[in-house]
Amino acid sequence: MDLDVKKILLRYWGFPSFRPLQEDIIQSVLEGKDTLALLPTGGGKSLCFQVPALATDGICLVVTPLIALMKDQVENLKKKGIHAAAVFSGMHPNEIDITLDNAIYGNLKFLYLSPERLETITFRERLRKMKVNLLAVDEAHCISQWGYDFRPPYINIAEIRQYIPEVPVLALTATATSGVVTDIQDKLKFRSENIFQKSFERKNLAYVVIKDENKLISMLKVLKSVTGPAIVYVRNRKKTREVAEFLQKNNISADYYHAGLDPISRSEKQDAWINDKKRVIASTNAFGMGIDKPNVRVVIHLDLTNSLEAYFQEAGRAGRDEKKSYAVLIFDDADITNSRDNFKISYPELNIIKSVYQSLGNYYQLATGSGKDLSFDFDLKTFAETYKHPPLIVYNAIKFLEKEGYIMLNDAFHSPSKIHINYNHNDLYRFQVENPSFDSFIKILLRSYTGLFNDYVKINENEIAKRSSTDYNNVITYLNRLDNLGVISYLPRKEKPQLVFAKERQDPKNIHISPQNYKERKEAALIRLRTVINYARTSDQCRSRLLLAYFGEKDSERCGICDVCQKRNKLEINDLEFKKIEKKITILIKDQPQSIQEIVFQLKNIPEDKIIKVIRWLEDNRRITRNEKNQFFIKKQFRLFF
Ligand code: ADP
Ligand code: MG
Repeated sequence: MDLDVKKILLRYWGFPSFRPLQEDIIQSVLEGKDTLALLPTGGGKSLCFQVPALATDGICLVVTPLIALMKDQVENLKKKGIHAAAVFSGMHPNEIDITLDNAIYGNLKFLYLSPERLETITFRERLRKMKVNLLAVDEAHCISQWGYDFRPPYINIAEIRQYIPEVPVLALTATATSGVVTDIQDKLKFRSENIFQKSFERKNLAYVVIKDENKLISMLKVLKSVTGPAIVYVRNRKKTREVAEFLQKNNISADYYHAGLDPISRSEKQDAWINDKKRVIASTNAFGMGIDKPNVRVVIHLDLTNSLEAYFQEAGRAGRDEKKSYAVLIFDDADITNSRDNFKISYPELNIIKSVYQSLGNYYQLATGSGKDLSFDFDLKTFAETYKHPPLIVYNAIKFLEKEGYIMLNDAFHSPSKIHINYNHNDLYRFQVENPSFDSFIKILLRSYTGLFNDYVKINENEIAKRSSTDYNNVITYLNRLDNLGVISYLPRKEKPQLVFAKERQDPKNIHISPQNYKERKEAALIRLRTVINYARTSDQCRSRLLLAYFGEKDSERCGICDVCQKRNKLEINDLEFKKIEKKITILIKDQPQSIQEIVFQLKNIPEDKIIKVIRWLEDNRRITRNEKNQFFIKKQFRLFF
C-alpha cells in the first residue's frame, strides 16, 4: 500500500516524498476512517484526498465552497490526465445532468461539488448509483456556526452520508479553533474522533505590528528595508489601485488586483507577479487563494481583517520556502473605528436581507417557486438604484444570502462558450445527409473538438470562423440554428458578473434565517473582530504565541523574532531573568504603588540597571503605569473597544 501511494505521488505530481502528516492522513483514509486534517495553508491538503482516491477504485466527491478554487483544481487534475469535473450553481442544467451521468457511467475520478448541490434531488438520485470511494470536505470550518466562514449548506453534507454509509469522510481545513474542531467532527457525523494536526507555528515568519497614522509611508519603509516579492492587502478595490500607484511613484514595481477585474487582466497581473516581473501586488483578499508562490518575503496588511483566522491565512502566504519572511500589520486608531463600521454594514438587519432577496426576485421577474439554477447578468449599481438600496448594503445582503445557499454572485464570472451534441453518431449522420447546408459546418465542429457527444466542450467561435472561412456572426447563427433544431446545446459565453438562483425563488416567509442564529453569529463575529483589534493593540506578548494560543496551541515558545520579542531581546536580559524580575516588581506594586527608588531599594540583590530596564519595558508596553507621584501600579487590561 505504502509503495502505491508513493508511486502515485511521483507519477502524477513528480514529488519524491510526502510532507509531514500527508502520509498519515492518506493512510487513515485508506483504512476507511473518518479523518480530520488540520494543516496550514499551503501545507498540501489537496494531495491528502487526491492520492488515496487515485489509489482506490471509484470516484471521490469533493465539497468545496468557492467556484474559482473548484475550477482551478479540476483544471490542474485534467492537466495530469486525471478525469475530473465540477458541478456548481450557475452551470446550465443540461451540463449538470451530463456531468452527473459521467460520474456514474463515465470514468470520472473526481467530482467537485458546491455544497448547495448536495441538497438537490437530481444529485441524490445519482449518488445512489455512484461508486464513491471518498467524501472529501475542503474548507471544513465552513460547517461550523462558530467558524469564521460559516456556510449553512455545509450542514447538508452529513445528510448525504446515509446514501454512502461505507464511505469515509476526510475533512480538511487550515484554520480551526478547538471548538470548531469538535464541531466539524460532530456535524460530519464522525464515527470516531480522529484528528491529524500540524502545529501552526511558522518559525521563519516574523510577525510585526506597526501603529502609524501615515500608513503608506510606513508601508514604503517596510518595502525598502526588505527585499523580494510582496503582497499588500487592503479592504477595498479602489485602494488596491491607489496603493499600487503610490508604490510606482516611489519607484517600487507594483500592480493591483481584485475580483472586479476581467479574467484576462486578472491572470496577466497574477502571472506578472508570480514570475517576478512585478514585485508588489496590492490586492483585496480575492488574491492568493490557489496561488502558490514560495518566495514571498513580506505580506503587509493596511487594513484589519475580520478575524485572526483570515489574518493568519493571508499573512501565512509569506515564506512558504521556509526562508526568513515578514507578516506586517500597519494600523492606526481610525482603523479600529472603521472596522467597527464595516462590521455593522456587513450584518444588515434580517428584514433588509429579506427585502433585498425579494427585490432580486422582482428584478428578474421570477415567480415564487421558479428560477432554480437560472443565472442572470448582474450590475450592482443599477440594481441598487432601481430599488433604492445603498449598494454596500445590497452587496453584503447578497453575500449573506449566498452563504445561506439561496443565491450566488459570481464576480466577473467568466464562462467560455460550450457545446454538446444531443444526437448520437448515427442520428447526427442522418441529419447531415438530410440537411446538406449544415454538413460542412458540423464536420468542422467534429474535427476541431473531441468529446462533443459525451460532454459540454469549450469552443471558440472565432476559431471556428477562421476554420470555416466565414465570420463570427455567421458561426453564431449556425450554432443557434443547430441549438433550435435540438441537434446541439449551445451555451454562449458569459462575461458579466452572474447572479444565480441556487434554489427556486422562495416566499419571504420561507426564508429560514433564524433570528436567534443570526444574533449568535453576529456576536461570534464581533468577538472575532475584537481578537484582531486585540492582536493589533497588544505590545507585550509574543505575536506568534498569541496567534498559536488562539488556535488552541497553548504551550508554544516565544518566537524571538516578532516585534515584541525583538524589543525584549534588546533589553539584554534573558527570558528567565526577565520573568523573575517582572514577577518581583508585580508583587511589590500589587497593593501599593511604588516609585523607582522604592522598588530598587527593596530588590537589593538585583542590579539596578536591570530593574530599570524591566520597569521601562513594562511601562512602554502599558503593563504598568504611573500616578501623579511617579509611583508605578499595575494597569488594568486595557479596555477593548465597542
Ligand atoms: P493547501 O490546500 O493545504 O493550502 P495545496 O494542496 O494547495 O495546499 O498545496 C500547496 C502546494 O504544495 C501545491 O503547489 C502542491 O503541489 C504542493 N505540495 C503538496 N504536497 C507536496 C509534496 N509532498 N511535495 C512537494 N510539494 C507538495
Ligand atoms: Mg486547499
